[in-house]
Amino acid sequence: MKKFAISTLVILLMVTVATAGTTEDKHFGQPLTIEKVTPLKDIIASPADYVGKEVRTAGYIFEMCTSSGCWIGILPSIDSEEIVKISWMETDVRFPIGEETTGHYIEIQGEIITAEQEEADHEAHMEEEGMDADHEHAEAAPEGTTRTVYTCPMHPDVQSETRDRCSICNMYLTPHEIALPTYSALAITGIGAIVKEKK
Ligand SMILES: [Zn+2]
Repeated sequence: MKKFAISTLVILLMVTVATAGTTEDKHFGQPLTIEKVTPLKDIIASPADYVGKEVRTAGYIFEMCTSSGCWIGILPSIDSEEIVKISWMETDVRFPIGEETTGHYIEIQGEIITAEQEEADHEAHMEEEGMDADHEHAEAAPEGTTRTVYTCPMHPDVQSETRDRCSICNMYLTPHEIALPTYSALAITGIGAIVKEKK
């Protein structure tokens, strides 16, 4: 009887974990078909190896187009000073997001292009859709020249945009002021994405 109770508990726990994993993930656009996640910092570090290629990569949502969801800016890590722009050129993969997804972990599949290419594509696209020039600047840019990142004094890899506790030692994370990120010379034409609450 005791054995039965324990195995029932184990099954219940497994079901709970499985449900928690799927309910928090939000899928956008096409399904992600590439299994391997190429770190965004590796792509930024050697552009020549990636331009023109389709990859699955990941990062943290920093800012986005708030008028139509046609682009988002993602950071390789919370404390990164470099940001990569993801454009959703197809209307049906527009990113229906609000500010509540800022700071969330996202996995993206798309083609790596140069920032110049992205700008040209985007301009042509806006013209096609009859959007005004102000559209490009309709972004949720934070005010000021710095932003606050919270890290654990004992575990520097534990980072957050809010004053959470460390997931390893439970200490309160301490604030640091860092420079606002600048956009990378690379961009991504996104075809699909999965947004996760936390990594
Ligand atoms: Zn810690």
